[in-house]
Amino acid sequence: MKYISTRGQAPILDFPGVLLAGLANDGGLYIPQSWPSFSPAEFRAMRGLSYPALAARIMRPFVGDGIPLEPMAAAAYAGFTNPAIVPLVQLETGVFVQELFHGPTLAFKDMAMQMLGRLFDHVLEQRGERVMIVGATSGDTGSAAIEAFAGRLRADMVILHPHNRTSEVQRRQMTTVVAPNIANVAVGGSFDDCQDLVKAMFADAPFRTDLHLSAVNSINWARIAAQVPYYVAAALALGAPDREVAFAVPTGNFGNVLAAFVAKKIGLPIAKLVIGSNRNNILSRFLGRNDMSIAPVEPSLSPSMDIQVSSNFERLLFELLGRDGAATGACIAAFRTTGKMPVPDAAWQAANRLLTGFTLDDAGTLAEIRRVYAASGYIADPHTAIGIAAARAHPAPGVPMIVAGTAHPAKFPDAIEAAIGIRPPLPRHLADLYERSETYTVLPNELAAIQAQVRALALRNR
Ligand SMILES: *Cc1c(COP(=O)(O)O)cnc(C)c1O
Repeated sequence: MKYISTRGQAPILDFPGVLLAGLANDGGLYIPQSWPSFSPAEFRAMRGLSYPALAARIMRPFVGDGIPLEPMAAAAYAGFTNPAIVPLVQLETGVFVQELFHGPTLAFKDMAMQMLGRLFDHVLEQRGERVMIVGATSGDTGSAAIEAFAGRLRADMVILHPHNRTSEVQRRQMTTVVAPNIANVAVGGSFDDCQDLVKAMFADAPFRTDLHLSAVNSINWARIAAQVPYYVAAALALGAPDREVAFAVPTGNFGNVLAAFVAKKIGLPIAKLVIGSNRNNILSRFLGRNDMSIAPVEPSLSPSMDIQVSSNFERLLFELLGRDGAATGACIAAFRTTGKMPVPDAAWQAANRLLTGFTLDDAGTLAEIRRVYAASGYIADPHTAIGIAAARAHPAPGVPMIVAGTAHPAKFPDAIEAAIGIRPPLPRHLADLYERSETYTVLPNELAAIQAQVRALALRNR
């Protein structure tokens, strides 16, 4: 499989190249040159496979030969606490939650990150290289990345988080991991400051080259590829390919929904795709009125969706614009300078044939957590609750609706307590999280100080 940039100006790469590059060097995102496809018979033959075996089969055409996906997937998901890995829970007639949060950090980001850590090790081993991964996190991504890369042999990792601005569970999930290749830095600033520092490190060409900087943020194609299999698993369990299914996905950076779109592209019969937003609803506004205009990010009860610029949307836009890299680049450039994306009418209509938008504010989210609990006894975290509300608001008649359950409720205990008066306990493997000792460095929001810290870790391990 070869990969091209959504802006059409970057070298064509194979999967290992895309894995390590992250962003294309024309500023675009890598996407397969053509979509692989699975026939109904091929999908039927996957029924009854274990989740790791299924994941390896679905990822194979994206990854190419020569990477041992089967043992990698088996190891990636071995630590999950539910034997089904991605179990389906039925809430009511025709509505299911697919729980994607049984990995080490209790959010769906583990699904891809656990594969990514192993893919990096394999590819870097083959090339005889070592990289320094830097990233910024507001919570879930950082902990999933640290869990996946702790103790890996060929990658060091420095994760920046905004000092005193993540939840305590989220911080402790990062800062209690002890490994010689991992460092946590609490930056005196906001999440946006952390992201700007990471961008500045990548923009510093000598620094970038010298330290072999790499990234595992959600624009990395390998993360999307590793998220496609669970859509297939849910659909097969509910009768696909001989029956259509629908999905409702709570959305921030558009990575998870993009994986659903890819599942459809490779042949899965998806009748409907509903995307749920909190009050940061740029995507729902786009679908409703072709208004993709940036607004300030507002904090919400579903912090992993507090995003205004959904980076992965660029890949969908590229498809909607008939894979025209110049047109895609022009749209994004206009968005960056004016704050509003001029999406041509035909592309907007195509987006609406594909996706349905749904918005729920914090009061609505608490009410939905309450309603679900009263109706079924199920405790949904705030992100998943938005997905459930989205599914109920936009049903697909006669078609089972599967909600992406993106986080364990114990990750957001304050919101759950506010809704139903119960503080969900952490699962056993994290029960002593509040007693573990933390290691992190607090640094000012200054590039030189952060770079010195990154360099020190890289030198120590070379
Ligand atoms: C990251 C995250 C999301 C949003 O996923 P995207 O791929 O960014 O759209 C939703 N819920 C939870 C719990 C998350 O951690």
